[in-house]
Amino acid sequence: MVGAGAAGLYTALVAAREGARVALVSRSPLAETASYWAQGGIAAALAVYDSPEQHLADTIAAGRGSCRPSAVCVLCEESPAIVRDLEQLGVHFDADRHGALALGLEGGHSVRRVVHAGGSATGRRITRELSALVATDDRVEVLEHANARALLTEGGRCAGVAVDRRDRKPARVIARWTVLATGGAAALWARTTNPPGAVGAGLTLAAHAGVALADLEFVQFHPTALVSDTHDGFLITEAVRGEGAILIDDSGERFVDELAPRDQVALAIEQVLRAGGGARVFLDLRRIDMTHFPNIAAALRHAGLDPARDPVPVAPAAHYTMGGIATDVDGRSSLPGLLAVGECACSGLHGANRLASNSLAECFVFGRRAALAAASEPKPGPDAACADLKTPPPDPRPPAATREGLWRLAGIERTAEGLEQLLGDPFPLARLTAACALARAESRGAHQRSDYATTDARLDGRHAVIRDGEPEFESWK
Ligand SMILES: Cc1cc2nc3c(=O)[nH]c(=O)nc-3n(C[C@H](O)[C@H](O)[C@H](O)COP(=O)(O)OP(=O)(O)OC[C@H]3O[C@@H](n4cnc5c(N)ncnc54)[C@H](O)[C@@H]3O)c2cc1C
Repeated sequence: MVGAGAAGLYTALVAAREGARVALVSRSPLAETASYWAQGGIAAALAVYDSPEQHLADTIAAGRGSCRPSAVCVLCEESPAIVRDLEQLGVHFDADRHGALALGLEGGHSVRRVVHAGGSATGRRITRELSALVATDDRVEVLEHANARALLTEGGRCAGVAVDRRDRKPARVIARWTVLATGGAAALWARTTNPPGAVGAGLTLAAHAGVALADLEFVQFHPTALVSDTHDGFLITEAVRGEGAILIDDSGERFVDELAPRDQVALAIEQVLRAGGGARVFLDLRRIDMTHFPNIAAALRHAGLDPARDPVPVAPAAHYTMGGIATDVDGRSSLPGLLAVGECACSGLHGANRLASNSLAECFVFGRRAALAAASEPKPGPDAACADLKTPPPDPRPPAATREGLWRLAGIERTAEGLEQLLGDPFPLARLTAACALARAESRGAHQRSDYATTDARLDGRHAVIRDGEPEFESWK
């Protein structure tokens, strides 16, 4: 198991519960995972007025004709049971005044369906609870400060990972199944809401071993990241818009439906900002009771802002990568013995635009399925000898120029000219992202091409898959 965010921790716990012995490899502390910073919560059709079918309809609508229906079905049907399982494991979700789970409203959801913990401290509460359980589980051995450097393969199967420990001694973890839960790649873009480690390390490892990646062109830009000298990129959850916060321009006018899906809101803000003349956009929180969002209130205070008095300057930032290691609905990748879950995986669930709070749900729902699927993987033979791949793995850290280049050339709006420039970038994942974005000659969801402004119906339900060379479009059941 590689990665100790929400997906890695939960997958390890379920696998251990099923009787597996698990080695959990993680390179950075909990507070440097995206999971720790999750604010809004987990989407699950728990209310009497809600249903998995309605959650499915909202997810498909947000995904702009690119979601894989089977993955959406799995998520929406299994997410409520996951919330109950997390409660059994000791996670305390916020309750309403009647003692029932309090449900938040976020963009693209037709009803209130997002459970949260500690107001906007959901990720922190969940990951702390899960990591405490992992630390005391005899069946899980945690290898901290351990960086997975390369996948090991043997006889056409993944046989584990090569790892660098803090003491610099290289080690190998041999396993009958390997799960990558290494998180997303949004910190490859210069302006981001993500912690610095979210640079797609797992995708780089997988691509190096020839494992199929998909949908890399679909990158979600969160509409409301703080503009600040000290806290630039700090995310202000959409849950505040669910409670009535509004977006206004310099003249105090509203210009967008604040609860439309994220691609629409981000694009509307970008268009206001591009109007020039130093135009700015503000999130007006003056009517919001910020005691419900204590960590946002604290961050704004530290940034010298008083949300009760002043509208807060915001702009979009790279937030979530819908693409990743191509998997089926049980997390299996194109390399036998290798599974991927959480943000590093691409089951096709999110399509071209993730519905808010579907990604923590994804970590748990698909993490559980991967743990169960892994139990049926064959054991490596007694003579299994693992060999590192022949060519040395690429450095997983992007140069600063790559991050600037992705922001400028593969940002909210892209053109063929810019993407072609990016094809010459030294960082492999930047080149692969550019190749997928070039191949998709249309605008859809989070992928906006100013040279192809409309959606091409022939690409409905088609995923750009990179196996070994140019992306090819595939339909997934
Ligand atoms: C500010 C913010 C707010 C968000 N709010 C929400 C929300 O409210 N609801 C929601 O559903 N989603 C939200 N998201 C998205 C969601 O948090 C992430 O998609 C999800 O947490 C990803 O979890 P993960 O386990 O896949 O990856 P992560 O939590 O990022 O964990 C990745 C792990 O992999 C390890 N790792 C990476 N590479 C290596 C390597 N080579 N070797 C060893 N270890 C490695 C890291 O150290 C880390 O432990 C938010 C994201 C951000 C940034």
